[in-house]
Amino acid sequence: MTGNRAPHPTALHPLRLRSPRGATVTEIDWSDGSTTSHEHRTLRGLCPCAQCQGHDRGIRWVEAVEQASKLAFEITDLEQVGNYAIGITWADRHTGGIYAFTYLRELAPLFGKPIEYLRAFRPR
Ligand SMILES: [Zn+2]
Repeated sequence: MTGNRAPHPTALHPLRLRSPRGATVTEIDWSDGSTTSHEHRTLRGLCPCAQCQGHDRGIRWVEAVEQASKLAFEITDLEQVGNYAIGITWADRHTGGIYAFTYLRELAPLFGKPIEYLRAFRPR
């Protein structure tokens, strides 16, 4: 461990993320040795972009996602943003969601949770 730096994905070039085309889950290896799994439905439903979330409230589950096509849950591109986040582009061309590493860690416990839990989730 180096000082108090928050966990970040390891081997940033390339980012150690596993999300083969058509996958429904992305896994991330972190610098603290942990691995987190993220269902794409959860990532998309909690997309932090302004288009999904507006500007005047905290992040909330986007219920429209529950009716979305499969393309809305297929990731076509993952890119590192600075030293703090990952940008996701979806197969339905939705883009602009910047997922901070700290946010991804916060989302990790949602893996496998039922939809009711996702709807009620309130990130810090
Ligand atoms: Zn969005």
